[in-house]
Amino acid sequence: MFQDMGVGVNVRNVSRIPGLQRADLVRSEAFIGGAWVGAESRILVDNPADGSVVGDVPNLGAAEAMDAVTAARDAMPGWQGLTGKARGEVLRRWSQLMLAHAEDLARIMTGEQGKPLTEARGEVAYAAGFLEWFAEEARRVNGHVLTPHAADKRLTVLRRPVGVVAAITPWNFPLAMITRKAGPALAVGCAMVLKPSELTPLSALALAKLAEEAGVPPGVFNVITGEAAPIGEVLTGDPRVRKFTFTGSTAVGKMLAARCMATVKRVSLELGGNAPFIVFDDADIEAAVDGAVASKFRNTGQTCVCANRFFVQTGIHDRFAAALAERVGGFRLGSGLTGEFDQGPLIDARAVAKVRAHIADAVEAGARILTGGQSAGGLFFEPTVLVDVKPDALVNREETFGPLAAITRFETESEAVRMANDTSAGLAAYVFTKDMSRSVRLSEALECGMVGLNTGLISTEIAPFGGIKESGMGREGSRYGLEDYLDLKLVCAEIDLE
Ligand code: ADP
Repeated sequence: MFQDMGVGVNVRNVSRIPGLQRADLVRSEAFIGGAWVGAESRILVDNPADGSVVGDVPNLGAAEAMDAVTAARDAMPGWQGLTGKARGEVLRRWSQLMLAHAEDLARIMTGEQGKPLTEARGEVAYAAGFLEWFAEEARRVNGHVLTPHAADKRLTVLRRPVGVVAAITPWNFPLAMITRKAGPALAVGCAMVLKPSELTPLSALALAKLAEEAGVPPGVFNVITGEAAPIGEVLTGDPRVRKFTFTGSTAVGKMLAARCMATVKRVSLELGGNAPFIVFDDADIEAAVDGAVASKFRNTGQTCVCANRFFVQTGIHDRFAAALAERVGGFRLGSGLTGEFDQGPLIDARAVAKVRAHIADAVEAGARILTGGQSAGGLFFEPTVLVDVKPDALVNREETFGPLAAITRFETESEAVRMANDTSAGLAAYVFTKDMSRSVRLSEALECGMVGLNTGLISTEIAPFGGIKESGMGREGSRYGLEDYLDLKLVCAEIDLE
């Protein structure tokens, strides 16, 4: 991941992101305590579509991470002292600035992450939606007055901001995974230190620039770029950080969460999924194919709610598989900065190798390739549909995170539920059926945090997003998303009755 990092590399002549209205949104400094902070040691940011360098950011470490925590701690009392309405107004301006510069943000995102421009535009709007939603919620952080247990007692439950928040975010949604954390944190009065993925720091820093312009006070939102391990050690170990929120792989999330326990931080985790996508004989086949395309192939299959295991009932199996293969076989692949495409590259060579390994494993055990199956050059991989995949194939046990739909046939509802739940993950699940009773039964029986019924798109700032089992803890978005940033405080008062 760091092979591209060099000290004192001359980056003046490398290609950048073309067509920006505001080139100053591409930052080359981190944002700590309201100041833009540089370093000689750099991390180069690549466009995965063609390997060109689109930017470079400072390679900071533990000392700067501590500075950022100090800045957040110092900024918090002033921010927390504002009214919810005043904080909400700042968040709303931030959201509006994102929308005003949506095209630039989308281009920056596509440039460093590779997703098609249409998807990047969609993510900008989605990400801004979290700031807008929590701008509104900032005024509704209400406590409770309880009926007292004694005549001379009065019980009040306050909801207080949890304290300095540290966030570590991934590369697959370079803006939305940040705003769904920053929105609620800032709404309730917390200050935040963010370490974005080293693969997509430019989106995070563009967001910081807009935060500055929106009037987020210095120190309330800090973005530190650099090597994950030393920064992560501070963010999980510093006792001044009271809340740690992470989106990323299950292995890293578990390791970081365990470290947080030494100082008993509040922890929220959004980890890997292994979503089942179940199609029954009575499903609307068009809707099921649309849902499969949206859920499996969005972001080149690199989302944690991506369908990963397709279970299709015998009677509809062949028609569904053929229709899906035909649809995705027609995808246009290419670099989002050069035209309109349906699918971009994978993020890195490791991701390509994983897709290959899952295909090879399934094919060796008898699966057939209906479409795709090959590299399409560089980090591009053909959208692939496999049938006759064994339930215990690698692709059914691990998240592929790539454009591979692996279909396993089933006969009965109970068999489908059993296979769907046979995993340690529990993020999303998708069910396609026209039978209302069956959809209710499945919604209840599937072990996951989110169920899509006859739809492949389930994410919105209005609804709680999150998983059960080893997919994580806590929820993001919606009014539930505020709870993770609030502590309850009981005030028990004894009063003179006369
Ligand atoms: P992915 O495999 O999707 O890249 P990761 O869990 O490796 O997922 O990355 C998600 C985020 O976690 C990124 O911001 C990455 O830099 C960060 N990360 C990875 N390893 C560590 C670590 N040892 N300490 C702190 N952060 C880490």
